[in-house]
Amino acid sequence: MMKRFENKVALITGSSQGIGAACARRLASEGCRIILNGHTLDDRGNALIAEIADLGSEAVFLEADLSRADQAIGLVERSIQAFGGLDILINNAGIEKHADFWEVSEEDYDAVMNTNLKGVFFAIQSFVKYCRQKDLPGVVINMSSVHEEIAFPHFAAYCASKGGLKMLTRNLASELAPLSIRINNVAPGAISTPINQELMSDKEQLGRVLKNIPMGRMGTSDEVAGVVAFLASEDSAYITGSTYYIDGGLTYHYQEQ
Ligand code: NAD
Repeated sequence: MMKRFENKVALITGSSQGIGAACARRLASEGCRIILNGHTLDDRGNALIAEIADLGSEAVFLEADLSRADQAIGLVERSIQAFGGLDILINNAGIEKHADFWEVSEEDYDAVMNTNLKGVFFAIQSFVKYCRQKDLPGVVINMSSVHEEIAFPHFAAYCASKGGLKMLTRNLASELAPLSIRINNVAPGAISTPINQELMSDKEQLGRVLKNIPMGRMGTSDEVAGVVAFLASEDSAYITGSTYYIDGGLTYHYQEQ
């Protein structure tokens, strides 16, 4: 395979498992050096560092809690130091909390909004300051969700956070294009990752979900990573401010029963 990310460095937040880990493997397989991130480095992070070395690239793991603006900013600064530069920022870390709207606590609201939106906002700001200072181009990809567009009852804060991400990307695409910084969203539908463990182990619930997906199956993290690699590469050089849905046809699907 052609190596599209030779001499490039990418920071992927929340990359110990799931979609973030798949993005790390995919970019590394095309020559990218990777900064992995999570709350704490554990066996999964260490295994991923070894896997990336086997793929012929290099990775480091930097701990940070993305729900805090100071740590999001600090993570970007430490990432720049790790390999002497940063070309690609993938804001992947995200959480969801299930509750009836009238039961949502301020604590859960803050946890979701701070991780999914505030941390992303300030990570991008820190990356943009670096690009401006060094007069370098940059690429930002935000892991949004089909719920930046379609409703998801009982996940009001999650939908608000991903809806905010949609508008943040539209706005920054305009503001940052003159700086040669591109920014796009990826919007997965139902992907088989640990975040969906409960759903995947409940056959009835899973059946109801799959009924709404024209392709009749969940997606894989690798299928998301393929689109992320496209958006991170020069193959998408004229694309900014867009959202790419990876949802088996879910978002624009409607059926009577
Ligand atoms: P996941 O739970 O498997 O992985 C998310 C990772 O982010 C975890 O390793 C977690 O520890 C880390 N993380 C969470 N909060 C963090 C914080 N404050 N600081 C640092 N790390 C933190 O989830 P996933 O399914 O791989 O989801 C990744 C992204 O994709 C999320 O933004 C999610 O909203 C989005 N998404 C997933 C699906 C899906 O079906 N899996 C669908 C739509 C959108």
